[in-house]
Amino acid sequence: MNTDMKDKVAVVTGGSSGIGLASAAAFLRDGAKVAICGRSQERLDEAAAALASISGAENVLAVACDVLNEADVEQLRDRVEETFGRCDTLVCNAGQARASNFYNTSDDDWRAEFELKFFSVLRPVRAFKGLLAASGAGAIVVTSALLARSPEPFLIATGATRAGQLNLMKSLSVEFAPKGIRVNAVLIGLVDSGQWSRRYVTGENIDGSPIPADLSQDDWFAELAKERKIPLGRLGKPEEAASAILFFGSSAASFITGETLDLTGGQARNV
Ligand code: NDP
Repeated sequence: MNTDMKDKVAVVTGGSSGIGLASAAAFLRDGAKVAICGRSQERLDEAAAALASISGAENVLAVACDVLNEADVEQLRDRVEETFGRCDTLVCNAGQARASNFYNTSDDDWRAEFELKFFSVLRPVRAFKGLLAASGAGAIVVTSALLARSPEPFLIATGATRAGQLNLMKSLSVEFAPKGIRVNAVLIGLVDSGQWSRRYVTGENIDGSPIPADLSQDDWFAELAKERKIPLGRLGKPEEAASAILFFGSSAASFITGETLDLTGGQARNV
């Protein structure tokens, strides 16, 4: 796959863990410079050190930034511009799921989920759109979820807002096409990232059921794959999600915009 990322710049929100970190590594391996952000400085420092080992610290910028905070996002954009002078790819990846059903989702929870799923895209896009247009081959990739098309009652607010995110992505793809900016989304099913390891430690599944104490993490992941009827029989790896994100975020997908790619091991049943 010819990604043509040499000397290009990719910004990955939520790049300090899981899919975002693996995506930042994939862009670096293909010759790009990379900026990552996240809220925890400690996680960012660890991630930046791991990424620096790929192609040198001079190609990595790590900035503490809450994507829901407009001033933080503008500061991230300014640091990217000062450090690298450009941005070619923006990966809107920061986020997490909210495990709740109709009965235990309050109005405030709904608002918080709407805020996270929409403004984690809107704020970075608003801040970076000028640099992306100046690139001449700008690309935005949204890390979204299979839930957008296949809702689950125990993730009611996340599913509904992920569906809205796809609608937003499609509108942006048309509005930004004349500026040469492509906009696509990767729909994740179940990927073995930080989220799921942390859930294993809490002992509670995302639907609220307990994880049997005698089950190892690997065995729990295998059960999850069975429960969710994933034909490939396992959870995805962050690196596998990163390959799809690199594809959409690079010139390998230069004639693709407004599209989605399922990264679900066959779990997606839509044709
Ligand atoms: P991780 O928890 O491993 O990584 C999430 C990253 O987002 C971290 O770097 C975290 O850093 C950052 N983040 C979260 N909130 C914010 C915020 N407000 N501002 C800035 N950074 C933030 O999760 P994954 O890699 O699994 O998830 C990546 C994306 O993929 C998420 O949007 C997730 O919802 C989505 N997804 C994942 C699935 C899966 O099975 N793994 C399934 C469907 C969708 P920090 O906490 O320090 O801010």
